[in-house]
Amino acid sequence: MNYQPQTADTFHLIAHVLRAPGQLQALAPFAEIDADLMQQVLDEAGKFVGEVIAPLNRDGDETGCRFDAGMVTTPPGFRDAYQAFWQAGWPALAAATEDGGQGLPAVLEAVLYENLSAANHGWTMAPGLLHGAYECIKHHASEDLKAQYLEKVATGEWLATMCLTEPHAGSDLGLARTKAVPQADGTYRISGTKIFISGGEHDLSDNIVHLVLARLPDAPPGPKGLSLFLVPKFYPNGSRSAVHCERIEEKMGLHGSPTCVMRFDEASGQIVGEPGKGLNAMFVMMNAARLHVALQGIGLLDAAWQKADAYSRDRRQMRAPGRGKLAAEADVIAEHPAMRRILDTQRAWIDGGRLLAYRTALELDIAKHHPDAARKAAAQRWCSLVTPVIKAAFTHQAFYGGSECLQVFGGHGYVREWGIEQNVRDSRVAMIYEGTNEIQAIDLLVRKILSDGGATFSAWLRDLRSELDDGNPADQRTAARIDVLEEATMGIIAAAAADATGAYWVADDYLRAVAVLLLDWAWLKIAREAPDHSARWAAPAQALQRWVMPEFGMRIAIISAPAVALTA
Ligand SMILES: Cc1cc2nc3c(=O)[nH]c(=O)nc-3n(C[C@H](O)[C@H](O)[C@H](O)COP(=O)(O)OP(=O)(O)OC[C@H]3O[C@@H](n4cnc5c(N)ncnc54)[C@H](O)[C@@H]3O)c2cc1C
Repeated sequence: MNYQPQTADTFHLIAHVLRAPGQLQALAPFAEIDADLMQQVLDEAGKFVGEVIAPLNRDGDETGCRFDAGMVTTPPGFRDAYQAFWQAGWPALAAATEDGGQGLPAVLEAVLYENLSAANHGWTMAPGLLHGAYECIKHHASEDLKAQYLEKVATGEWLATMCLTEPHAGSDLGLARTKAVPQADGTYRISGTKIFISGGEHDLSDNIVHLVLARLPDAPPGPKGLSLFLVPKFYPNGSRSAVHCERIEEKMGLHGSPTCVMRFDEASGQIVGEPGKGLNAMFVMMNAARLHVALQGIGLLDAAWQKADAYSRDRRQMRAPGRGKLAAEADVIAEHPAMRRILDTQRAWIDGGRLLAYRTALELDIAKHHPDAARKAAAQRWCSLVTPVIKAAFTHQAFYGGSECLQVFGGHGYVREWGIEQNVRDSRVAMIYEGTNEIQAIDLLVRKILSDGGATFSAWLRDLRSELDDGNPADQRTAARIDVLEEATMGIIAAAAADATGAYWVADDYLRAVAVLLLDWAWLKIAREAPDHSARWAAPAQALQRWVMPEFGMRIAIISAPAVALTA
């Protein structure tokens, strides 16, 4: 069973719950965007994903990528699908019109990538970094470099990579050793080995643009000594660069995406941005990539849920409790509380996650284009604090919730026939790349909350409260949870003044507390706009309160434990 985008649900969340069209019309570049246009783009995207990309998923896993003498062949149909994808303008959806893009809002691109990842995670890894690479080149490259590369990357005619990781430098990129030696003509010679590079080599596009972190000869040690360079596979004059793929990794999943070891043999490249500011330039790309990975998690969980839901409506075992004992047939397993609970709970994560991720995409555009400085600042707070939370929480849920969906199949989920085991294998990596989930938790608590004594965080909590309805009991319950989180946060900040170690021990629990609180908050909004309080929306709303929200209390208890117990 192939994944099918559920465009009507997505449109409901964007148009009616988030009221995106009205918000976007307040931003100059999107003044012409209306609900009809958004619906049209979503319908077309859903059609392309369902008809062209989803059918390649199974073969992508089973055939995988092949490596031979430095060349990578992607699975059957992948190249044709990619060529059709960029020629139809999909990678350029949210790129500016002056760069060859369509100038549409980020939220439409978010839905496109969620759907693509759900349909075929392996294939989607290739274009997944394009928008980040586009932003990075647009904001940091010289005019000369932009003239050569920006439009090709914006349109997706040339794919791009992010070359950060080295054998000894993973989470700690400050340890990277790849060298960049300046040449008399203003170019640089790049030498070193990068590992785990997604799409480092392939046959999908005619050229590949590598963005590479490397160190100048006089650079200080650590992250401040890193600069960013652009090295293509082929230079614009057609000559081949000295960048070679040495091998591709054998992996647990994601077989449709080549994960490459790349060797740079004094490859000629050009600097992007200022010397020593490489991480800064790369940050643009990494932030876009983190939202993208959160959307991967949500999409992958939805794909697993669709399979489990369909299977549970067909498979019959025993009679469900409370049903007449004289019924001739066993009930479908969807009637059994244990299975219903799994399905409704995962649905709560998916729809709540969608709302939060789409809202983040919307806030990205508001942060860039809103005329009011206070609204802009609020949008920046949202993006900065929510991005690590949704990256970690929804990639975690894709794997653990996907495994719950596999459970719905019993033994039939563990064998290959239904394809659910591929979902579980493929999703595991999203907890690791783009900054591991532990790094996201430290980013949230230590870098973004402790660093200013909780000032930005408290302002953001005020923003959340301001969208609640004081007269509604469900909203009052969420408001009380926000108070509890704020108090626990102040406790951590006070303890960190003497010793910050305790914060590192509880950062993961802290991020989970914020994640489930955000889910609660998102579902208030979804429930408010649910058409006729239909079971489609009511069942996951109830499952959230019954089966997920108790975790909030547990995490608060863990993070509020005295520091001495945390560090012992
Ligand atoms: C399929 C795949 C595709 C990838 N694609 C790319 C790509 O396109 N480009 C690229 O540059 N890289 C890519 N990566 C690399 C990926 O980003 C790294 O694997 C990741 O950053 C973690 O680095 P590491 O594997 O060296 O683990 P390590 O950094 O060694 O971490 C090991 C464990 O220690 C934990 N840890 C490390 N430091 C800390 C800390 N300070 N506090 C708490 N815990 C810590 C980690 O969370 C992790 O659990 C990819 C990896 C995979 C598997």
